[in-house]
Amino acid sequence: MSDVSGSELRALMARVPSVEKIMASAQFATLVNDYGRTQVLNAVRDALDAWRVSAQSGDASVSALDNARLHATVETALHKRNESRLRSVFNLTGTVLHTNLGRALLPDEAVRAVMSALTQPANLEFDLATGKRGDRDDLIDDLICELTGAEAATVVNNNAAAVLLTLSALAAKKEVVVSRGELVEIGGAFRIPDIMSRAGAKLREVGTTNRTHLKDYDEAINARTALLMKVHASNYAINGFTKEVRIDEIAPLAHSRGLAVAVDLGSGTLVDLSQWGLPREPTVRETVEAGADVVTFSGDKLLGGPQAGLIVGRRDLIAKIKKHPLKRALRVGKLTLAALEPVLRLYRAPEQLAARLTTLRLLIRSADDIHGAAQRVQPALQLAIGTRYVVAVEPMFSQIGSGALPVDVLPSYGLVIRMADGKRGGRYLFALEKQLREMARPVLGRIADDALRLDLRCLEAADEAQLIAQLTPQAKDNSA
Ligand SMILES: *Cc1c(COP(=O)(O)O)cnc(C)c1O
Repeated sequence: MSDVSGSELRALMARVPSVEKIMASAQFATLVNDYGRTQVLNAVRDALDAWRVSAQSGDASVSALDNARLHATVETALHKRNESRLRSVFNLTGTVLHTNLGRALLPDEAVRAVMSALTQPANLEFDLATGKRGDRDDLIDDLICELTGAEAATVVNNNAAAVLLTLSALAAKKEVVVSRGELVEIGGAFRIPDIMSRAGAKLREVGTTNRTHLKDYDEAINARTALLMKVHASNYAINGFTKEVRIDEIAPLAHSRGLAVAVDLGSGTLVDLSQWGLPREPTVRETVEAGADVVTFSGDKLLGGPQAGLIVGRRDLIAKIKKHPLKRALRVGKLTLAALEPVLRLYRAPEQLAARLTTLRLLIRSADDIHGAAQRVQPALQLAIGTRYVVAVEPMFSQIGSGALPVDVLPSYGLVIRMADGKRGGRYLFALEKQLREMARPVLGRIADDALRLDLRCLEAADEAQLIAQLTPQAKDNSA
C-alpha cells in the first residue's frame, strides 16, 4: 500500500518546519491573537501528528504539507472547537413554546435589561432607599402582586422548583389531598407524585381518573392533612363523563377546616387570552380570587418571560416558603430578574401586549400574514433543495406548546416538501431534514405524512430575511 519509500519519508519529515517557526510566522499570528497561544500550539501539534501518521501510512498526499495547508487545517480545527454549542435555530416546528428550543422568546425591553445586568453592578440585594441589605424578591414582588391580586410573591428557578418548594415548606411530613385526575406528568421528569415524595409530603389521592367530588376531598381530610392541592392538567384532556371540583368549591371546605389550597397552574397567564381568540385559560388573578392560598406558575410559558417559577399567595404562607432552606438553593439569578421585570411591566398596558409581548404576538399571528411569509420563502427554498423535491405553500396547524392542550391548534401556513416524483421518499426526506438541520443556523421542521413540514408562524421579518439569505448562495457571498 505504501508508495513512499523510507528515504522519501525521511526527506518529507525533514522538510516539516519546526513548531517554533510555524508559530512565529505572520500567518499564525492572527490565529494566536484570536484563540490564544496555548490552543494554537496544541492544534498545530495535533495537525503535525496527524500528518506524520498519514505520511508513515503511505498516504500519497503527504508531500503537500506546506504552511498554507497547515494553516487551513489548524484554522478549521480551532474554529470548530470554539463554535458555540448553544446555537440559534429556526423554529419551524409549529410549536411556539417549544421546551427543547428554549420556550418563550423575550421582547427587546428584557434583552436590554439583561445586557445591563450582565455588564454593570446592580442593586440585586441592596435597598437603595435605606442603603442596607435588601431581598432580591423585593425587586418584583410588588409588580407580581399588582398583576395577580395576591398579597405576596416570590420567584424561583422554574415552576417545578416552585411546586417542590411550596410542598416542602407547607406540607413536609403531612398529607396533601389531590384528585386522581390531576396526578400528571409534565415532560418526563416532573410528576406530581414524585415531587410530592421528594418534598417529604404524603400524597393522598382522592376520586377517580375521570370524576372527583367535593365529598371525596372532605372525607380525605384528617389531622395530618396540610393542603388540598389542584394541578392544572396542562398537556392532556379528559373528555366525556367527567367531574372536577372547582377551586371556589374546594376553598371554602379547606378554609372551614383550617387548611390551605395550593394550585399548580402550570402555564398560568396574567390576562384572559380568549380576547385574542386563544383558548381560555384561568388567569392567576381568577385563581387567587377563587380562593387559592398559594398559586405556582411558569415564567417562560404563556407569560412570555424567562425560565422562572412564580409563587403567589397569602402573606403568611409566602413568608414561610421564603424562609425554607430550599429557597436559597432554588433562587433565581440577576439575569432572570432583569428579564422578568420588563416582561411583567408590559402587562400594565394590556392594549399593547399583542404587539409587544413576543410570545403573544407569535401565538395570535394571522394565517394571512404567515401565508405571505410562506410565499416569499418558497422560491428560495425550492431553488436551494433542487428538483428532486417540490415545495408547496399549504395551510397547517401550529400548537401553543409547553403545557397548553395539544387539542388547541392555531390555523397557520407553511412550506410542505414532498418528493417530485410523487413517491413517499422516506430516506430522501430524512436526508433533507438533516441537511436543513446542519445549516449554519439550523432549520428545524417536522416530518409527517410523507412530507417535511415547515410552519412559518415563528418566522418574523428579520428571521425571514435571514432564512432567505441562508438559502440563497449568492446573497451569502455578497454579504461576506
Ligand atoms: C409546565 C408545568 C410544570 C413545570 O414547569 P417548569 O417551569 O417547566 O418547571 C409544572 N406543573 C404544570 C402543571 C406544568 O404545566
